[in-house]
Amino acid sequence: MKELLVASRNAKKLVELKTLLAQLGYEVMSLAEIDPDSEVEIVEDGLSFAENALIKARTAADACGILSLGEDSGLVVEALGGAPGIYSARYLRLTTGELRLPYPDYPGGDPLAVRGVTDDDLNNLRLLFELEGRDNRAAHYRSAVAVVDGAGKELCAFVGDVHGTITHRHDGDGGFGYDPLFTPANHDRTFARMTADEKHALSHRGKALAQLVEFLGEKV
Ligand code: IMP
Repeated sequence: MKELLVASRNAKKLVELKTLLAQLGYEVMSLAEIDPDSEVEIVEDGLSFAENALIKARTAADACGILSLGEDSGLVVEALGGAPGIYSARYLRLTTGELRLPYPDYPGGDPLAVRGVTDDDLNNLRLLFELEGRDNRAAHYRSAVAVVDGAGKELCAFVGDVHGTITHRHDGDGGFGYDPLFTPANHDRTFARMTADEKHALSHRGKALAQLVEFLGEKV
């Protein structure tokens, strides 16, 4: 099996990436395993998913000298001008001004003053709140993946999308992040109600990684 360092500390995303990459013939190490004291700092300040994926891959490859993969993903909501998008993980904390930087058409909204719930739950609550009364519930997840080799050479970047709609309430306990609110097109269950294999077969991450592995199979 070929070794690949994944530049992420998001435990739930890592499980998905490990499963998908193992099916595709890769043994995945994570940054948490190689750098348990978090000495490698990733400054995720790109303004697109692909830019951020490349920043993550490059930072890990430069620090560790191993073939490294960066992945950046999020939920792009039409009625919110594309937000939370690249800020999906930290949507719960961002002001209107911060969100309008990459998404000038974001209609506006503020962090909710709710205590004692997880970041994922707070992100989901804010999304439901900001879509209240809106007919347009269209959204897509996007995943960008990039690989940089141990010598710091950029090898590739690919993007995968899955289109769908945002539900009116939390529905299901599987997956992570916005999965209880996202129903993929032509399906009647949210990602949080699907098995991991069902989600992988449809997901943005699965699509981006499939292209990447095909490319690596030819090049590495
Ligand atoms: P990142 O780790 O900076 O790429 O942040 C990705 C964020 O986007 C996650 O924390 C989730 O909020 C959201 N996200 C990305 N992919 C998914 C998914 O497959 N399901 C649910 N939420 C996702």
